[in-house]
Formats: sequence, structure tokens, C-alpha cells
Amino acid sequence: MAVLVTGGAGYIGSHICLELIECGYDIVVVDNFSNSKFEALRRVMEMGNQSFPVYNLDLHNQKELSTIFDRHSIDAVIHLAGYKSVRDSTIDPINYYWNNIVSTLTLLEVMQMQDVYKLVFSSSATVYKASDKMPITEDYPLEACNPYGRTKLIIEQLLKDVHDSDPNWHITILRYFNPIGAHKSGRIGEDSNGTPNNLVPYLSNVAIGNYPKLYIFGNDYPTKDGTGVRDYIHVVDLAKGHIRALSRMEDMKGLEVFNLGTGTGYSVLELVKAFSQVSKKEIAYTITSRRNGDVAECYADVTKANNQLGWQAEKDIHEMCQDAWRWQQQNPNGY
Ligand code: UDP
Repeated sequence: MAVLVTGGAGYIGSHICLELIECGYDIVVVDNFSNSKFEALRRVMEMGNQSFPVYNLDLHNQKELSTIFDRHSIDAVIHLAGYKSVRDSTIDPINYYWNNIVSTLTLLEVMQMQDVYKLVFSSSATVYKASDKMPITEDYPLEACNPYGRTKLIIEQLLKDVHDSDPNWHITILRYFNPIGAHKSGRIGEDSNGTPNNLVPYLSNVAIGNYPKLYIFGNDYPTKDGTGVRDYIHVVDLAKGHIRALSRMEDMKGLEVFNLGTGTGYSVLELVKAFSQVSKKEIAYTITSRRNGDVAECYADVTKANNQLGWQAEKDIHEMCQDAWRWQQQNPNGY
């Protein structure tokens, strides 16, 4: 029995694939490589000492997708494939809705036709309504404030309806906080396509000398030092959360939602300091105006994942920065 990983060549996907192999799962990957490279999977195969089938396929292609299910004995799906840039989603919402939602519908149709009812879905903390009440529990009010977040929210609602219509489904929705870091080998990590939008990839590029300085988006938030606070989680811890979710679904039907974070918030300035310490580089920065759509603070209550998945993030902010830095140094221009 194999696990199908959609979007398996991406930053989070490649770490999940390696973790699955190390835990003894057979895997099959589908990716259209729109924002990822085969090299990531080649390295996963090398590191895991095992090759696995990889299909360069768009999930909209229902016929081909169905053939993959015919060819392999798929028992569960981890669905990560999707566009993920908030900025791009505001520029081209039609493309975002089309790509993220229609492809999920196609996948669900194929799964249903093939009697595969176990699904782990990659969601995001962006589905939570902005609030100053922290930490965020899974039952917090939901409201996304950009097209990307709305695609995640719509898919979550879609999955609830699908589950309600047929109790055979086992569905786990994982809401990621801020995944950063890389595998400790430095061989797989986040390969930003063009100028990075997220803090850590940008920061790493400043440290390595690709950009002159970091722009910090606002220091007038009501936070410990005025800069935005987020719940950064090591990508390997995040990947392990998926393994726990999969094994929990073996014997439990139903739909469950879990936050995956550490439960601790760090400010932009704290992160800059930690990164500077581990890289032994001065990080030049300028404070600029707030970025549209950013909230002051966002960090998770992870009690539910601790209790029900038996999962807890283990790596601290220094290890996250150390691993991100090792990846950056060993791969200054990505894959
Ligand atoms: N941020 C920043 N400069 C950057 C990128 C991000 O100051 O070049 C800040 C951003 O305002 C937020 C935090 O870093 O407070 C994390 O942003 P990121 O884009 O990494 O993740 P988000 O929480 O927005 O998904």
C-alpha cells in the first residue's frame, strides 16, 4: 500500500517524502513542477536510499490521475499541491481559484471513484480571522483576507461537506503556522522562485550577500518589540506531524483539524537576532511600512495535536535558523 503525495517535490513535500520513506511507507509523487524541481526528489531518493514513482502531472488531468491510482495500490493521499503566494493570489485570483480548488475537486472525484478515502490536507493558519486573542485554537472563527487564504478556506469547507456526505472518509486538515528551516543535511530546503516573499528565505539571502538588506514591515505593532510575531516551526517537525496524522487515520474515521506550530511566537527582530547568531553575519535591515494584510501576532495553541496526534514540535528557533543557513550556504542559488 502506498501514500500518494501531491506536490511532493515542493519545500514541505520533499521533507514529507523523506520522512515517509524513513518511516517505511511506499510513496508515489505527483507534481506539475510549476514551482519545484525534480532535483529535490532526486536528492530525497538518494538520502532515503530508495527510488519511487514520480509523475509530472497536473491534477486537473483526471484521466491520467486515475491511471496512477489504477497502477499503484494507493491507500491514502497527502494533498499539498497548490499555489501558495499571497501576493500572486491578489494579482491573479482566477488562476489561484482555478488551480487550487478545481484540482482538489478532481482529486476528490478520482479518490471517490477509486475507493480511496484517506486524505491529509495541507491548510494554513491564514484561514483564521484576525484577532488579538492568542494563542489560536482550532475552533477559532475563520475568515481569510486574501484569495490564497480563501482557496484554503473553501477547500476546508468542501472537505467538511464531502465528509458529511459519506462517513467512509477519513480526513485530516493540518493548519500550518510558519514553516522554516531545512533538513539537517542541508541537501533539501526552500528554493524560492525569484525574490522571496517570506521572511526566512529573504533573510538567508541577505546573510549570503544576494541582497543588501532586509526590509522589516513595520515596528509599530502592539507586540513585544513592535515587529510582527509569528509561530515558526521547523519543516522537519511539520513533516513528522503528517506522519502522525496518517497513522492516526488508520483506525479513526471522521474529519479532524489540527494546528501545527510550536505554540511560541517570535518577533521579526528576534528572528533576525537568532539568524545573525548562528550565521555569524551582521544582517542589515531597514524598518519600512507595514505590509498589507499582515497581522500583529499569530501563534498556535497546539494542545489538540499534542493530545490527539501524540505530536509535538521539537526543534527550537536556533536549530531552525542553523538548518536554514546550512541549506542556504550549500545551495546559494537553490537546486
Ligand atoms: N516580514 C518582514 N520582511 C520580509 C518578509 C516578512 O518584515 O521581507 C515579516 C512579516 O511582516 C511578518 C513576518 O515577517 O511579520 C513573517 O512573514 P512571512 O511572509 O514569512 O510569513 P506570513 O506570516 O506572512 O505568512
